[in-house]
Amino acid sequence: MKNAETVTFGGSALDRAAEIRGDAAVLAAAMAAPEAVSIVLWRGKPLISRDAARRPALTRVPMDHPVLQETRVGTIFLGREDSGPVFAHDISAWTPEVFDDTALNSFLDRSEQHHPSLNASDTFAELRAVMAQLSPRDAELAATARALFGWHRSHRFCSQCGQESGMAMAGWQRDCPACGGHHFPRTDPVVIMLITRGNSVLMGRSHGWPEGMYSLLAGFVEPGETIEAAVRRETWEEAGIRVGAVDYLASQPWPFPASLMIGCKGVALSEAVTIDPKEIDDARWFTREEIMLSFSGGHPELKPARQGAIAHFLLRNWLADRVD
Ligand SMILES: [Zn+2]
Repeated sequence: MKNAETVTFGGSALDRAAEIRGDAAVLAAAMAAPEAVSIVLWRGKPLISRDAARRPALTRVPMDHPVLQETRVGTIFLGREDSGPVFAHDISAWTPEVFDDTALNSFLDRSEQHHPSLNASDTFAELRAVMAQLSPRDAELAATARALFGWHRSHRFCSQCGQESGMAMAGWQRDCPACGGHHFPRTDPVVIMLITRGNSVLMGRSHGWPEGMYSLLAGFVEPGETIEAAVRRETWEEAGIRVGAVDYLASQPWPFPASLMIGCKGVALSEAVTIDPKEIDDARWFTREEIMLSFSGGHPELKPARQGAIAHFLLRNWLADRVD
């Protein structure tokens, strides 16, 4: 697909400079460089500020900024920008004086938190709420840091011997001091498919989603399975639809917590929908005209697809006849 990399989190050609991750002296020099900066995350939420037009951008703080003293886990080296090296710190151990933790667990957390050592305009915001407005570079940095810190949090112990492992390779590895095992960050492949039949596209909704919200069907790729087979299996399991030709369209890192969304298109060979009620709440066909109406907010039942998600990107390109 020609414009595949224009998807949110589609990358910014960041120089990740992997060759210096294992070189302690070079890494220390990069950290001490006056032009070095860090982005900051709190419980998965990146630190952002907004310009006059309310557009968000990642806040980059100098390496000696007091907010970084809140960190209780290692520093991650993300790469080199034109302006210098960029790192990431996680200050999840910090507890804001006033905060509502029910918001953090809501479907889309709209709450923002402010740390007293930062400018009033700097806040921690849910990445899903701001992702579509970030620059490609900021989106790549935030997605990478969020995925890595999430992995460190959920993989503290060695899967070979159970001992606590430690961050290594500037945050891109964990090593076990007991058995010497090396562990690498996980990325879980998920297929998400634009299944069409003539003028219609197959959409489904999960249990617990807000009313009127539908998306493209999706599911994890299983061990021993190709991308194409996963598309056909998931569509059959969730909606009872057989799929013929499958083609790859675009991919999207999705750090919630650690997925790589693999966008595909598939041609349905049948039409009658039979859902698996254990897996999904509903699935149905929507015409091109209905999707167009929902994008403008005018469909009585179907809510507009969420900006920034690959489902929105694939649907928008399908409407514009740009999925070849
Ligand atoms: Zn071990």
